[in-house]
Formats: sequence, structure tokens, C-alpha cells
Amino acid sequence: MSMTGNQGRLWAIGEVVNRTPRTIGNGSRVSDYFGCNTFNQKVMSEKLPKDVYRSLQKTMHSGHKLDLGIAPIVAHAVKEWALEKGATHYCHWFQPNTGGTAEKHDTFLTIDSDGAPIERFSASQLVQSEPDASSFPSGGMRATFEARGYTAWDPSSPIFIMDGPNGKTLCIPSVFISYHGQALDKKTPLLRSVQYLSTQAVRVLRLFGKATDHVEATLGPEQEYFLIDEAFYSLRPDLVAAGRTLIGAKPPKGQELEDQYFGSIKARILAFMQEVEHELFKLGVPVKTRHNEVAPCQFESAPVFELVSVATDHNQLTMEMLRRVAKRHNLAFLVHEKPFAGINGSGKHNNWSMATSEGENLLEPGSTPSENLQFLVILMATLKGVYKYSGLLRAAIALSGNDHRLGANEAPPAIISVFLGEALTKVLDAIESGNLQGANTEKQVINLKISKLPEVAKDNTDRNRTSPFAFTGNKFEFRAVASSSSPATPMATLNAAVGESLGEIADAIEARMKKGAAFDKVVMDVVREWIKETKAIRFEGNNYSDEWVVEAAKRGLPNLRKTPEALAQLKTGAAKKLFKKSGVHTNEELEARYRAEQGFDIRAGGPDSKYYGSDLRPQQCLEFVRSGCRKGRNR
Ligand code: ADP
Ligand code: MG
Repeated sequence: MSMTGNQGRLWAIGEVVNRTPRTIGNGSRVSDYFGCNTFNQKVMSEKLPKDVYRSLQKTMHSGHKLDLGIAPIVAHAVKEWALEKGATHYCHWFQPNTGGTAEKHDTFLTIDSDGAPIERFSASQLVQSEPDASSFPSGGMRATFEARGYTAWDPSSPIFIMDGPNGKTLCIPSVFISYHGQALDKKTPLLRSVQYLSTQAVRVLRLFGKATDHVEATLGPEQEYFLIDEAFYSLRPDLVAAGRTLIGAKPPKGQELEDQYFGSIKARILAFMQEVEHELFKLGVPVKTRHNEVAPCQFESAPVFELVSVATDHNQLTMEMLRRVAKRHNLAFLVHEKPFAGINGSGKHNNWSMATSEGENLLEPGSTPSENLQFLVILMATLKGVYKYSGLLRAAIALSGNDHRLGANEAPPAIISVFLGEALTKVLDAIESGNLQGANTEKQVINLKISKLPEVAKDNTDRNRTSPFAFTGNKFEFRAVASSSSPATPMATLNAAVGESLGEIADAIEARMKKGAAFDKVVMDVVREWIKETKAIRFEGNNYSDEWVVEAAKRGLPNLRKTPEALAQLKTGAAKKLFKKSGVHTNEELEARYRAEQGFDIRAGGPDSKYYGSDLRPQQCLEFVRSGCRKGRNR
């Protein structure tokens, strides 16, 4: 069939006006089926002997090493459960340096020695698998001739079953490492970063008399995306191939009226969202919020926060489900950072904090002076980490798609700064100026009204949506992250940066206490010094303004506008030192990451590709569109 542009448009409109919302007849109570496709706590306690269950729980929740002795029993239980659920295949589900996920399915079916078919699943199949590592982006670490890579079960994230059109697959969340133990994925560095952060945070908490066992990073990623009808989508080779429009006229109505944000959700879209959520609930993903976003056809989904590693897996599943379910509704899911010119792009706001094993949120200001001193120490460590490594944080969100978005008038600029809000700024200014009434620290803290911090800090009225890294009452919101990116790299970088500062602030406090100074005074002194030292990273004004670009330059803050400049940060001595010290990357891994991410940016692909989210040879696409989509590329 050949159509002129006009005929195509008429055909698409004909399709679109006749669409009706797709219904799935789901009326169940969510708590009745939430997590039913995961090998969850309840299933484990039912299927595993008590001692095995306890041992596995320890590994899952306190980072204890997996007791390999229990693997055969767990594997058997997992298999029985999966077969009951109707799974025919299993896979190690991992996150290579593409930013997406990878899986290679094997059937449980084997043929016995006497020729009878039987389902089997061994301990070693649960614990380890060996995909060919040579075809994943490894930044040159794995040549084809030595392509051995291993996936290894990561017990900290729940095993799950994915439905397919004609069967089900058991998925085992895994890390991907080389024969020599180098990380070939995004998950391994993330897990390492959490360990480092935990060790350093526990040191700080010890100073405050807390006996917590470990500290976790928490993440709630808000996912923005666009939806357009697949009929319109299929007429746009630029959207199909590059994930964004490269040519075209502005629509008669953009976001001028600002009537989309939080507007009533249209039935067809709501049907889509409800089906996505239904699928995600089955997988134990706690999606909570759905709403229309600012731009026409732009939407958001946000979960309840979880441990950063689990939240990262769940964000991958969320993107996958959004993509899959969109197809069922004749919609195209666009996760590119800037699919359309002239209207807002999409981000993934990474809400991040730290919590103790007892569940105390370390960025929650407390109600006593002592709790608030601890809060100020944690806050200073965060500011210092972001200040010292703002270039690396910029590198962690680098992607050509994000270059189109950052600084494009609706997204934070490429300059990383921190917003604290008026109330907190006043407190820090008062401490800095030393203008404190009251003789002892307790009195000072009370006079500062720091005990009122929880209320003032939660005051959302002065929220600054232009900031790339904003304090929002009891967590930070890293808003500059790209909508299509895995949260793993930004979060690993942040954990490493803040982990180092937590260690340094613990050192500083310990050193002065050895000299016999009183704890409260030492803490106040150190906090005061760090306030001064990190002042340059704090910015409360309009991050979109031209004045800020000038001001930031004066302050010496990096303004790395494009991905290549940003990625060059990975080559610096500071990067090597931080990642080595924190154990997040060896030098070799870091070099490989640099090369892989550079290469990734060039490869990219369309929305059906795992590499989606970046620019696929825009020039070729453009030519193709200009030629009326007639010129094949294989002339
Ligand atoms: P916003 O007003 O920024 O849109 P939302 O309520 O939509 O805020 O999203 C906030 C996100 O932050 C949610 O995913 C929420 O679970 C998450 N969040 C809340 N507390 C924490 C925390 N302590 N650590 C990490 N994420 C958190
Ligand atoms: Mg939001």
C-alpha cells in the first residue's frame, strides 16, 4: 500500500476516532493479589524448611553472604512454585551496560536417561548462568575470544514470573560479572555502593550512640513518559527510529493553557494505566501515583519507595510494562527525554534517602536537638558529596536524549546545584554566621528553632522545581536523571559520593573528640565549617535563568552541557580515586564504563529496542523523512 502524507494522516485519524478503551475486567482487591507472581515472603515461608527460610531471609535483608548449602533446597522450592504457576522456562534477568535488561530463556524440560521428559532446575542453574559476554557493551573488557561472563543470582531482589502471550517465564534477578569478577553490568556497582554507604553511615551513627547494624539507600523513582496513538506513531519514521521527532510543524495547541497537568485522565489512558498497574501489582511493584504531566500526552507513574536495588529492578519492570501494555492499547510508549520540540521533556526524578536497619530515615529532621544535630551532619555530608562530585553526578545522567532536555526551559540545567528551601537555608546561615544566642549547644539549637525543623522542612510551598537536586522535607529529589535511564548509575554515584563524605565527617568529629572537646560543640563546629565549605553548591534561585549560568561559572561549578564533556569526568583522577576507594568500580571497570557509555550513545535504537532513549543517526532519519519515506537506506 502506498499513501501520500495526507492519505496517511486521514487513515490515522480514522483509526484513532474509532478506538475504545480496552478493558480487562479486573475488580479484585489489590492486596489479594499483590506480589502473586513473586517468590515472596509468604511463598518462601510455606515452601522452605524453617532454617533455610531464615538463612535466606538473612541474605535478603541484612546483606549476609548466601549459604550455598541451601541453594539446592531453594532451587527445588522455586521450581515447584514456578511449575504450579505454569512457568515453562527460566532465565537470569540482568542489567547490562545498555541501561535496559537482558534475559536468555531455558526450558525446565530435560529428557531423562530412560527417555522420559521431566522438569528439572538445579542449584547451579539458580545460582549461576553463563551467557556469552562478548555481545554486551563491555567497553572492551571482554574480547570475543575470552568472552566468559557469568550471571549470578542476586537474592536481595525477589524472583518473579513474567507472563508471556503463550506461557510464563521464571526470572531470577542477577548480577553480570566477568570470569575475573569485574562488573559487566549496572547492578553490581549499585550493590557495592550501598555497602560502602552503609559502612560509612554506620560510623557516623555510632558517634551518636546508635547501634544500627546497617544503612540502606532508599529510592522512589517518578517515571515520566509520553503516549501517542500507534497510528500517528507509525506515520513518523523519525519517532519510530530515533524516539523523537526531527521534523514537522508545531501543533496548533501545545501546553500554553497548562490544562494537562493533573487534568482528568481520559478513559483510554486510564484504562492503559490501570492495566499497567494490574500487571505491576502482580509483580510486587508498589506503584502508587498516576497523573497527567505538564505536556500534552505526557504522564507520570510513581511507586512507593523501596531499597534502592529493588526499586531499580522495579523501575526496569515498570518501563517494560508501560511499553508492553501500551501496545495492547494501540498506543506507543515514548520514554525519550525530549520526543517533541516546544513542549516539556521527560525525566525520572530519583527521590533518594538513607534508612537504618531499624527504619529510621536519616534525612528526616527530628524533634530533639540531638536528633537534629545528627540530621545536620547527614545533610552536610550529602552537600559535600554532591559538591565535590557534581561533575561525576552529571556524568551519571549523561545521555544525548538528556542533553536535549537539560536546560531546555522545563528541566534542570546541566549545572548540578542543591536546593534546600528557605527554612533550612536560614538555619544554615545562622549557624555559619556564628550569630547564635545561648551559651551551650543545646540552647543554641533550640534558639535556632532547629527542633521545629520537621515542620519547616516539610513546608512544600517554596519548592523549587528548577533545581536538579532538591531537598523535599525528608529526602532529596535528583530531578536531572533521564527518563529512559536506569536509576542504577546515578544512585551508585550518589551513594559513593555521599559515603565518602560521611566517612570524612566521622573522621573530623572523631579527631576533635580525641583532643577532649565536648561532642555537641565538636559537631556544631564541624557543621559550621562544612556549611562554609559547601556553600557554592547551594542555589535557591531560578536554575533556568541566564544569570545562574554566569553565577555558577563564578562559583566554579562545572557546566557540562553535552554528553561527551560529561563522560570525560569519568577519566579524572578524582573519579578513579572515589570509585576505587568505595569499591564501586576498579580502574579497569571505570575505563570500560567510559567506553561503553560513549559507544552506547551512538548505537541507540527505537522504542522496541532495549537501547531506546537515545538518538539513532538523526541525519539519516531526517533524509528518510524528507524523501517521503521512499529512499531505502540500502541503496
Ligand atoms: P512529588 O511531589 O515530587 O511529585 P511524589 O509524592 O509524587 O512527589 O513522589 C515522591 C516519591 O518519593 C515517591 O515515589 C515516594 O515514595 C518517594 N519517597 C518518599 N520518601 C522517600 C524516602 N525516604 N526515600 C526515598 N524515596 C522516598
Ligand atoms: Mg511528581
